[in-house]
Amino acid sequence: MSNTVYTFGGNAPHTDARQKDKTVTGGKGANLAEMASIGLPVPPGFTITTEESVRYLREGADFSDALRADVATALTHIEGAVGKSLGDAADPLLVSVRSGARVSMPGMMDTVLNLGLNDATVEGLAKTSGDERFAWDSYRRFIQMYSDVVLGLDHGLFEEALEIAKEDQGFYADTEMSADDWRKLVAEFKALVEQEQGKPFPQDVTEQLWGAIAAVFDSWDSDRAKVYRRLNDIPADWGTAVNVQAMVFGNMGETSATGVAFTRDPATGERAYYGEYLINAQGEDVVAGIRTPQYLTLAAREAAGAKPLSMEEAMPDAYHELARVFDLLEAHYRDMQDIEFTVERGKLWMLQTRSGKRTAKAALKMAVDMVGEDLIDKREAVRRVDPMALDQLLHPTLDPTAPRNVLTTGLPASPGAAAGKIVLDADTAEQWAGRGDKVVLVRVETSPEDIHGMHAAQGILTARGGMTSHAAVVARGMGRPCVSGANGVSIDRDARTLRIGSMELKEGDEITLDGAKGEVMLGIVPTVEPELVGDFGTLMEWADDLRRMRVRTNAETPADCKMARQFGAEGIGLCRTEHMFFDASRISAVRQMILADDEAGRRRALEQLLPEQRADFTAIFEVMTGLPCTIRLLDPPLHEFLPTRDDEFADLADATGLGVDHLKRRADELHEFNPMLGHRGCRLGITYPEIYEMQARAIFEAACDVQAASGEAPLPEIMVPLVATRKELAILRALVERVADEVFAEKGTNVAYLVGTMIELPRAALMAGEIAHEGAFFSFGTNDLTQTTLGVSRDDSARFLAPYVDQGIFPRDPFVSLDVDGVGQLVEIAAERGRATREGIKLGICGEHGGDPASIAFCEKVGLDYVSASPYRVPIARLAAAQSALSSGE
Ligand code: PEP
Ligand code: MG
Repeated sequence: MSNTVYTFGGNAPHTDARQKDKTVTGGKGANLAEMASIGLPVPPGFTITTEESVRYLREGADFSDALRADVATALTHIEGAVGKSLGDAADPLLVSVRSGARVSMPGMMDTVLNLGLNDATVEGLAKTSGDERFAWDSYRRFIQMYSDVVLGLDHGLFEEALEIAKEDQGFYADTEMSADDWRKLVAEFKALVEQEQGKPFPQDVTEQLWGAIAAVFDSWDSDRAKVYRRLNDIPADWGTAVNVQAMVFGNMGETSATGVAFTRDPATGERAYYGEYLINAQGEDVVAGIRTPQYLTLAAREAAGAKPLSMEEAMPDAYHELARVFDLLEAHYRDMQDIEFTVERGKLWMLQTRSGKRTAKAALKMAVDMVGEDLIDKREAVRRVDPMALDQLLHPTLDPTAPRNVLTTGLPASPGAAAGKIVLDADTAEQWAGRGDKVVLVRVETSPEDIHGMHAAQGILTARGGMTSHAAVVARGMGRPCVSGANGVSIDRDARTLRIGSMELKEGDEITLDGAKGEVMLGIVPTVEPELVGDFGTLMEWADDLRRMRVRTNAETPADCKMARQFGAEGIGLCRTEHMFFDASRISAVRQMILADDEAGRRRALEQLLPEQRADFTAIFEVMTGLPCTIRLLDPPLHEFLPTRDDEFADLADATGLGVDHLKRRADELHEFNPMLGHRGCRLGITYPEIYEMQARAIFEAACDVQAASGEAPLPEIMVPLVATRKELAILRALVERVADEVFAEKGTNVAYLVGTMIELPRAALMAGEIAHEGAFFSFGTNDLTQTTLGVSRDDSARFLAPYVDQGIFPRDPFVSLDVDGVGQLVEIAAERGRATREGIKLGICGEHGGDPASIAFCEKVGLDYVSASPYRVPIARLAAAQSALSSGE
C-alpha cells in the first residue's frame, strides 16, 4: 500500500509514527491504532488520511488512483480478520464509515453505520445472526442514515414514515416492531428513496462504500462544520480522516449494549467512572438523546435515584472488563479518556478513545489530582488546562442565599449559572443576543444546526437528552451552562410558548439555569463573585513559577484595578484616561474644553477637570501602590465627546453662555471623515498641549499625594499614543518633564516616573530605533497597529471578516489573535530596533491581543517583558504566559 490508508486491529502490521500522528490519521484513527497496538479489543478497520480529504476537496471531488487501490487492499485486511466479505450474500461483512478530524468536532460531521446491506445481504445477515428482526432493523437504519448523509434526502421523511408505521400498529417504542414490520418499512424507505432521487437505493456495496467516503470528505465543508471551525479556531485546511471499521452490534438482543463513558467525571473532575449505556441499541441512540440512557455504575444510579439497572448490575462481566480497560487507558494516555464502546453478545469492543472534553473546574481538578497521583508533573499540569476555559470560573455564580423559584429540574449537563430571556430557536438566540439581550436557548433537543444559537446564548435548556447528548457535550465544550432532559418541559413552536409543569411562559420571559444542580428557575436569580482558591489557586501558583513575562491589566477604575489585582495583575499596562472623561459629572467641562474657540477657553475648562482627574489617579494609585502604572494621555478624536442631542446642546449653551447655533457650528467644524486616522492620539497633544499638561499635572500631583499619605509611591509610566515620529515624542516628553519639574518643585518632593510611547503605526515600528531615543518604554497597541497595517477599520471589520476566516485568508480574526506573519513582523522589527538604541528598553503589549493565548505565545517568542489584559483575562494571561515559557524552553 502507498501511504493514503492505514490498517489497524486484527493482524494489522505494527503501527508506525505516521499512523499515530493525529495530523495524518485524525484523532479517532490515531487512537484506534494506538488502542489496537496495546492489545485492546478494537474491531479491525482502516483509516484514510486527512491528506486524502484535503486532496479530494482541492481536486473537485475526485479520488486518487492510489487511494482506490489502497482502500481495496485495506478492505481485504478487514475481510481476512473477520472472515466475512463485503457484499457476500451468504455471510456479509458490514462496516461503519466515520469521520475523524485532528480534534473532535462532536456531531459536526457524518457517520454511516451498517454499510454493506442490500436486498441480498440482509437475508444472509438474518441467517448468520439467527435474528431476522435485527437484520431488517439494521437494514432500515442503514437506508435511513445513508439517505440522509450520502444521498442528501430529508431525514424527516424517514422519521415520519417510521412514526406512521408505529402508530398504525399502536406501538410506542421502536423495540415493539417485529421483523416483518421492519421488512415492510424497508420497502417503504426504498420507495421513498426512488421517488425522491429518481433512482433506486444503491445495491452495489462498493458504490455504497465510496459514496460514504465521499460524504465524509464533503462534510468537512458543510455549513455547520464551518461554523464550528470558526468558533473553535480550527483551520480550514486540516481536513478529516475517514475510518472504515467492521461493525459490531450493540443491538443483538439483551446481552448486547452500547455506551459512552469517561474515566473521570467530566463536569466535576471527580475520580469516578462516569457514563451511560443502552441495552440492545446502536451507538447513535445514546448520543441522539432519543432513548434516555441508563447509568454505568451502581453508585451513580443510586445517587440519581434512578430505577433502570446500571451496567455494573445488568452486565457485570462486560462492566468489569470495561473498568479494566478504563484503567489501562488512563495509565497509557495519562489523561481522562472519553470512550465509546459496544458489547456484542457479552463481548466488549472499544470503538473510540480520546482525551475527554471537560469543564474548566474539572480540568483544574484533574490536573492537580493527577500531579498528586504521580501520573503527570506540574509542568504537564500547567500545559493541560486550556487558558480560555478559565473564563468559566471567573464569572459570578448564583448566590447560594438567594431565594429560588424552581420550576423544574433536569440533568446537570454543564455547570455554571445562566440567566436571560427565553428564546426557542437558534436564529432568534443569535438575533436577540446581537442586539444586546442575554438569552437562554430552550429546545426539545439540540442538533449541530443549533451551534450558533448555543454560542450566542448564556445557557441551554433541553426537554430531552442525557448527559452525553449533543446539547450536553457541546455546552460543556463551549463553557455554556446547560440543563438537559428537564422534566415536564414542552414547547409550542407556533405559539412561541413554553410550558414547564403547569406554568406557561412566553419567548422573552426570563429564567435562570443552575447547570451544576440541573435546576430551572423563574426570573433572574442574583449572583456572587467567584472565589479563586483551591485547585485554581494551586495551578495558578505553579503557572506563576513557570512564567517569565509579567502580567498587567488594562483598567481605568479603582474597582477594575482591585479586581485585576485579585486576579493576579502585577501592574497597569494601559489606563485609558479618556474613559474618565465620559463620566456624567465631567462631560460638560470636557465639552466646554473641546468647543472653546481658543486656548484661553480650553484652559478654563481644563481647570475644572484637573481636580477630577487628580482624584481619579489618586484612587487608582492607592490600589496599585508599588506597582507600575502605565497611564496613557488622551487618545480618541475629540468629536467622540461632542453633544449630539438638542437637549445636550441646550445644557451646554446654559453652561457656557454661548448660543446653540454657535455651538452646533463649532461641532460641525470638528467633524472628521475618518476619525480613527484623524485628529487623535499625540496629534491632540501637539496641537492642544494644554490638555496633556493638565493630565500630566494630575498624574504627578496624585502620585506625590499618595506617596505622602502612604509612604509608598506608585510607579507612573506616562504613555504617549499614536506616535509616528521621533519629534512628536521629543516635544511631548519635554512637556511632561517640564510639568513634572513644576509639580515636584511645588510639592517639595518627587517620584520616579518614565515617559514612553505606544507603537501603533507601521511608521513607528519601522522608526523604533529613532523613537527609542526619546522613550523609556514601548507598549504595542496592536489594536491600532492591526488596523493600520492591514488597512482594515477596527470598527467596521466585523461585517466582513467572518468569510475571510471561513476561507482561510486569515486563520483567525486578526483583531482577536495577532496576525503574527504581518503585524507580528512589525512588532519584531520595533523590538529589535528599539533594543539596539536603548538596551533593555521595557517592552509590553496592551492591545486586546494581550489576553489571547496564541498572541501571548508570540510575545514570549519576541521576548516582551509583559502582557496586559482586561481584568477577567488576567488569569488566562498568567496561564498562557506559563505555557508559552514552557513551549519556548522545549
Ligand atoms: C491599541 O491600539 O492597541 C490600544 C491598546 O489602544 P486603543 O485600543 O485604546 O486604541
Ligand atoms: Mg490605540
